[in-house]
Amino acid sequence: MTRVLVVEDEPQLVRALEINLKARKYEVDSAPDGGTALRLAASRHPDVVLLDLGLPDMDGIDVIKGIRGWSRVPILVVSARRTSDEKVVALDAGADDYITKPFSMDEMLARLRAASRRTSPVAPSGDSVMVATEAFTVDLPAKKVTREGRDVRLTPTEWHLLEVLIHHRGRLVSQKQLLQEVWGPTYGTQANYLRVYMAQLRRKLEPDPSHPRYLITAPGMGYRFEM
Ligand code: CA
Repeated sequence: MTRVLVVEDEPQLVRALEINLKARKYEVDSAPDGGTALRLAASRHPDVVLLDLGLPDMDGIDVIKGIRGWSRVPILVVSARRTSDEKVVALDAGADDYITKPFSMDEMLARLRAASRRTSPVAPSGDSVMVATEAFTVDLPAKKVTREGRDVRLTPTEWHLLEVLIHHRGRLVSQKQLLQEVWGPTYGTQANYLRVYMAQLRRKLEPDPSHPRYLITAPGMGYRFEM
């Protein structure tokens, strides 16, 4: 069952969302403010977060940053703020998608399904997840990498970087997103960190580190894990 955390301070909208989500077999927790949202995100482990940006106690952007400090749960922003700058700020802070109020319930449900699908192939609720390439194998829950039958020792930072790329496998992850997910929200422009750590990962994992097959650079944009 998919658990949704609804962060919204308009009681009528919370009620409408609860009715619609529960009718479709979602489990719903709701938070009327940012402080409650952060507490419930930590204690209830939602599969998706629906987040309003205009909250009584703090800005929703800070809720995104707070959650992203330790979790990659999909965050779908539902907001009346409609300029593209505001969307970019939310996406840069780590939101996965953005839907503008007023919205149709059908559209919101479709985006919600898409957001929860994006995470499920990688982490089907605690099941063991192995990623096997021809060159190496990654056991995500055990945080273990094996190459030619031997354990590959990764530093925590190398591991975290690899994990984020695998999580988004086949898709480009921007430099900024990688920096913020691995190093934290105050990073975003230190592309040299990424070059250093990607080179280390390639030396440890790629059969031919100077011609990477798995850890691909999109020059000036970001990186992609291919398998
Ligand atoms: Ca609001």
